[in-house]
Amino acid sequence: MRHLLAALFVVTFMALPWIRVEGLPFVRFELHTGHYFLLGKVLPASSLINVVLLVLGAALSLGLVSSLWGRLWCGYACPQGLFVDLGVRALERFWEGPALARARLARTRSSFSKWTRRAGLQGSLLFLSAAFAFGVIAYFADPALLLQARGGSLASLWAVGALIAVLAYVDAAVLRHRFCTTLCPYARLQALLVDEGTRQIGYDFTRGEPRGRGAEKGDCIDCQACVRVCPTGIDIRQGVGQLECVNCARCLDVCEGVMTTLGRPKGLIRYDTEGGFQGVPQKRGFHFRPRPFLYASALALVLGGGAFRFAAMPSVQASVVNITPNGFVREGTRVKNLLRVRISNLSGRPATFSLRLSPETPPTVRIDYASPWGVLLPGESAETTVLVSKEALAAQTALVHFVLEAREDATLVGQFSALFSGPASSSTRMR
Ligand code: SF4
Ligand code: SF4
Repeated sequence: MRHLLAALFVVTFMALPWIRVEGLPFVRFELHTGHYFLLGKVLPASSLINVVLLVLGAALSLGLVSSLWGRLWCGYACPQGLFVDLGVRALERFWEGPALARARLARTRSSFSKWTRRAGLQGSLLFLSAAFAFGVIAYFADPALLLQARGGSLASLWAVGALIAVLAYVDAAVLRHRFCTTLCPYARLQALLVDEGTRQIGYDFTRGEPRGRGAEKGDCIDCQACVRVCPTGIDIRQGVGQLECVNCARCLDVCEGVMTTLGRPKGLIRYDTEGGFQGVPQKRGFHFRPRPFLYASALALVLGGGAFRFAAMPSVQASVVNITPNGFVREGTRVKNLLRVRISNLSGRPATFSLRLSPETPPTVRIDYASPWGVLLPGESAETTVLVSKEALAAQTALVHFVLEAREDATLVGQFSALFSGPASSSTRMR
């Protein structure tokens, strides 16, 4: 089950950049063009709040999962862990056999067969690292385009990919689970994330002790199988929530095998609370715990806010800045403002926008000149300058309302406002 879920994560991770919804990427962050896509929708390039919500949502989800099930993330979904467990270990087994055969191979003298296997393994690890790096950079550019072009604006992305490949190779060849125990910051946050109600992998002391074989002993026969399979080399019997435990459940699987062979009940190593492992009776079903409640409440707020923003996202977004020296100029009977208007096409289809004043704008205001925008692709932004003038005799300030319309689609409209600057005011604002 664990391996199935892990494999599903890997396939999803590699496949997501290739998936499109109505022609738009399901998820992509094109930093080099400023185009961002999520769930097949275009996100405003400058929307910092969306990025903050995304990061906050991910952090709170991790906090909630950790407070309920400990380091479930490490065992089932961490890219580094899956890279090592499903990729590196599998290749190692393929080239050099299971653990005993590998130990034997390490002790044998140099031979053609030994070095062929070693070279095969290192070559495969290099290929795996390159594939992983490509999987990462495919989230930042069209993967099909990446495969065709390595120069131009994609050159820097390929350079980042090469760096990721080198780091991944070092991880595959040298670090592996040492990364989890020495470099990963998440492991060090566990004390803040879990509480006495968190269900984690652990060893049942009341049932297992005293260890050994014999009528007077507990269920643990001290066979050391759980220690031998542990990728980080720890003994689960030394306590729940050890810093080095990456929740891989290998000790659990192997101990279940031992218990089955001995004809004893499974669960000597299992998921349970700290109290459960000490033999303290645990409440069944739902019971209130402040830590998960706080994480869940904060996550609900962030998700709700994100969903609201997502649903209310406009099809076209505009920002406007008054670039007239001193705020305005006077020409004959009129006062003029020169505006720089930047629009972003968030509609998901190409569009050519034009600008007009909305009927709410005072009739004394008119657009003297607006340089046209070209066709904007989904996610693309462009700037133009707009000269707006107003009768000098009328009130000096006025709120000017603009309407953006797409030539190709009458339903594709957007609105924005700017405060016309006269002798009494020089500010500009968006609605
Ligand atoms: S695998 Fe089970 S029985 Fe063997 S040492 Fe570990 S806990 Fe004890
Ligand atoms: S103690 Fe068990 S679950 Fe933890 S890392 Fe070792 S084998 Fe995996």
